[in-house]
Amino acid sequence: MDHTKINLIVRLQHLDNQIESIISLQKGLPEEIDALDEDVTFTTRQIEARKKIAGEHAKSRERLNETIRHCRSKIQTFKDKQTLARNNKEYDALSKQIEYEEKEIAQADIQLQDISHTEQKTLEMQAKGRQLIAENRYDEISEDMMPDDVLEQQLEDLKDQVKQKKEELESIIIESAEEVSELKEKIKKQRAVVESESKRLLSKYDHLKSGSIQNAVVKLHRQACSGCNTRVPTNRHTLIVQGGFYLCESCGRMVVHERLFEEAAEAQD
Ligand SMILES: [Zn+2]
Repeated sequence: MDHTKINLIVRLQHLDNQIESIISLQKGLPEEIDALDEDVTFTTRQIEARKKIAGEHAKSRERLNETIRHCRSKIQTFKDKQTLARNNKEYDALSKQIEYEEKEIAQADIQLQDISHTEQKTLEMQAKGRQLIAENRYDEISEDMMPDDVLEQQLEDLKDQVKQKKEELESIIIESAEEVSELKEKIKKQRAVVESESKRLLSKYDHLKSGSIQNAVVKLHRQACSGCNTRVPTNRHTLIVQGGFYLCESCGRMVVHERLFEEAAEAQD
């Protein structure tokens, strides 16, 4: 194989490495942002669920109080009628109606008490949570124990963090945008050169990179493949020193002499 073709593919790798190192500057920010976004969604849902329950309670309470008011006014009407009753039969019939309305009121009262009881329990749970927070016993706090205001604060903090990380990422992207687009342009040209000189080599390169391998071409380092650290047989060293490449038996990467990378860097400048 013509060794100058190896130089062409090393140049391509050199350019790809530069893009890769720019992306690594993003330091896992995109993944961090995704995870924070999920937390924001989860916390928002929790808060909404609580608001929904509180809203339902308020509605029920209003409805029950309205029922009670209505029953009371009916009772008053029946009582007024009783004073005008002409006989016992009429009087007793009104008493029965009053009794019925009183039962309705009692039922509504029980339901109102149930709501208050549930709300009281929620408050007690949250008070317990607040106590645990004060004692730094966070791992003992269940979802229900988290006080409303703490939950709201958590949501605000999460949103702030997302905003901050997004800005950080944005600035990294903006800062490196020009460099990246220049590199992409160079890569495009270099790929065209490699393709016209050796289609086979380019497809080998692309095939290696299509898997989990980022660097298809690596340096020989301490007589080993620097991609996977497997030793390169001594009888292949000469070939590598002369400017050829060796296919690592372990990872399949193309192993070349480091001099080729130096030359690629010089050629780029
Ligand atoms: Zn290897």
